[in-house]
Amino acid sequence: LWIQVLERLQLELSRPTFETWIKTASAERLENNCLVILTPNPFARNWLQKYYINTIARVVQDILGHPVEIYFTVAQGDEISFLNEGELTQAVPIPNNILENASKSKTITSELNYKYVFSRFVVGANNRMAHAASLAVAESPGREFNPLFLCGGVGLGKTHLMQAIGHYRRENYSDSKIFYVSCEQFTNDLITAIRNDNRQGFREHYRAADVLLVDDIQFIEGKESTQEEFFHTFNTLYEAGKQVIIASDRPPNQIPRLQERLCSRFSMGLIADIQAPDLETRMAILQKKAEYENIILPKDVIEYIALNYTSNIRELEGALIRAVAYISIWGLAMTVENLVPVLQPKTEKLPATPEAILSVVADALNVSIEDLKSNSRRREISWARQIGMYLMRQHTDLSLPRIGEVFGGKDHTTVIYSCDKITQLQESDRTLVQTLRQLSDRINMTSSQK
Ligand code: ADP
Ligand code: MG
Repeated sequence: LWIQVLERLQLELSRPTFETWIKTASAERLENNCLVILTPNPFARNWLQKYYINTIARVVQDILGHPVEIYFTVAQGDEISFLNEGELTQAVPIPNNILENASKSKTITSELNYKYVFSRFVVGANNRMAHAASLAVAESPGREFNPLFLCGGVGLGKTHLMQAIGHYRRENYSDSKIFYVSCEQFTNDLITAIRNDNRQGFREHYRAADVLLVDDIQFIEGKESTQEEFFHTFNTLYEAGKQVIIASDRPPNQIPRLQERLCSRFSMGLIADIQAPDLETRMAILQKKAEYENIILPKDVIEYIALNYTSNIRELEGALIRAVAYISIWGLAMTVENLVPVLQPKTEKLPATPEAILSVVADALNVSIEDLKSNSRRREISWARQIGMYLMRQHTDLSLPRIGEVFGGKDHTTVIYSCDKITQLQESDRTLVQTLRQLSDRINMTSSQK
């Protein structure tokens, strides 16, 4: 089966795509209408998942004659998801048995992310105090800084630090009870408990913690019964000498509609803030991340990325991942020049520029930009021009006459003709559909970071 799948995919996909992503994968098993595909690394898994799962599913269905669910797995049991939260993970299907097990287990607290440990945390001027306080609390909870209140902007390492405390306790004191919850989860647990008439169970659960970590507490604003309940939980733990660690995107006195008594509890221990990292720290973070992911990055590339992403470490890491993906999917060398198109700081998603579309089309279809703008009727040139017009219609808001102008002053009826033709051909020409999809991906890659 897999050989047939490969043959078909080879026809449908571009050579670099096929060589990079498909050839390196293999079918692990096919059972109960599930095809598990083994990929060499987490990276390949995520790319296949994001861009090729539908193509693969279709091809497999064509061959077998019935639909099959596709799962990807990573070789050597290395199930590390290389991508950041939110980036691609939402698309990764979870086999049913895992889901079942997850819902069977009754713990209401969340698990810790294995990556969020002290050893992976880079200390810089921006977070030195928060880091030192976290270490102190990890070593002797319930003593000095209680509660420890970590605050700082989005993506600056609050969750990482607080979970590092949790990991540290679990590792060194395996019997200590570490509860990590987001404020939202605390709220949801409370709501469930109230609905099930089991407030007592809720209290017993939370009050059994040795270390309670509550993330994103700012969401407690205005939620009266959550605040009430949290106040009592806090007091019980505090009086029993248990450690409470809270993270928030702002200091307690700036959380609106927060009960005064909670605000004063939150301010009772230490408020440690995390600022945006300086250049040196950002470079050190990239370096460390690259080491953990076994990526070799030239120093000037690290610097280039660090210079372009200044205020959010999650975005900084996202940029690194995009860089590696882009380089490997297009088979380029890891140089600053090659990264320029993908690593402009992302402010908002702008429509692709006509120039970017021209250059993507020219590059992929082996014609020059001048050819696209010329009046040449050579078959491959007019074909590329028609595809270019179609894509420009799809990716920009330009009017038909403007698109005509971009292509060297063609009449708008020519643009209409081209768009209609390409639209119609797609109904019968699968290769064309595939080509257009790839060109679109590439245009998106260059445009979304502008
Ligand atoms: P927050 O909770 O403040 O929004 P996170 O803790 O989720 O931010 O951090 C965002 C990402 O940045 C995570 O992947 C985290 O591992 C990483 N990160 C943040 N600070 C550091 C640091 N000092 N060293 C290494 N990685 C960091
Ligand atoms: Mg967080």
